[in-house]
Amino acid sequence: MGKATPGVLYLCPTPIGNLEDITLRVLRILKEADYIAAEDTRVTKKLLNHYGINTPLVSYREHNKEKMGRKIVKDILEGKSVALVSDAGTPGISDPGEDLIKKAIDAGIRVVPLPGPSAVICAVSASGLSTSKFAFEGFLPQKATERRKQLEKLRDEKRTIVLYEAPHRLLKCLSDIRDILGERKIAVAREMTKLHEEFFRGTVSEAINRFESTPPRGEIVLVIEGTGLKTEETKKAENLSEQEDINKIILQEVERRIRSGMDKKEAMKAVAKEFSIPKRQLYKVLLENEK
Ligand code: SAM
Repeated sequence: MGKATPGVLYLCPTPIGNLEDITLRVLRILKEADYIAAEDTRVTKKLLNHYGINTPLVSYREHNKEKMGRKIVKDILEGKSVALVSDAGTPGISDPGEDLIKKAIDAGIRVVPLPGPSAVICAVSASGLSTSKFAFEGFLPQKATERRKQLEKLRDEKRTIVLYEAPHRLLKCLSDIRDILGERKIAVAREMTKLHEEFFRGTVSEAINRFESTPPRGEIVLVIEGTGLKTEETKKAENLSEQEDINKIILQEVERRIRSGMDKKEAMKAVAKEFSIPKRQLYKVLLENEK
């Protein structure tokens, strides 16, 4: 088996729970790299032990990302190949990897992304909400005022919204979502790929009820319906209520004309003409109203 190419930074996605969720290519690069830069060396050590990989590990995390980042870039420029891994999922997505990747690109280093698990894609794919366009917001700010400000900015977001959230902040976050974004559909993806995997799908209020009765544990992704890309079901419900509103106006117009002296037939004819509605449709609306 050949070595990983010298002078390359490899982005290696690791399982978000189930240890089987790792590609053959990631395993090969982890084996062949000169060393692995890991967010939490203890977490990565477990994975490496499981697959019998002995590549040296260095710690690259939020608190040492400046100093270590510079060292890693220097090593790669000197010809080393480095595999970057985060605690779980794809490095660079809501973790300090983002910083190293920028540094490497600035230094002219080749950055090779390997495909693999990421909590955001996993959650969106199974959410049941529109997946054609989505806005990934990562973690909302922890401070309530900041969090609410960020949600205000998302109020009119047309795309599906995806958030990472810690379990102890879930209820506060859901109640801010209900206050600011209003009642909408939501999917709460919890502990994906793990023993207690759960997908809660419903409205924001239903999610609040669910997690008030059993406080959540584990890791969570929230997928929230946007304002523009509604599911077929929501669209149908909205069309129905739109049609109900139109029917109400038609009835009011017919009644107004009858009150002003027209007979029913004349009133119907006038309304059909004014609103360009087939007379048969108008008749049906009147009949349904009389039932
Ligand atoms: N880079 C990672 C990725 O690509 O998924 C994400 C890193 S971020 C620091 C960790 C967050 O991802 C967690 O707080 C949680 O919101 C989400 N997450 C990770 N694993 C998860 C899982 N198994 N189920 C649900 N959410 C998960």
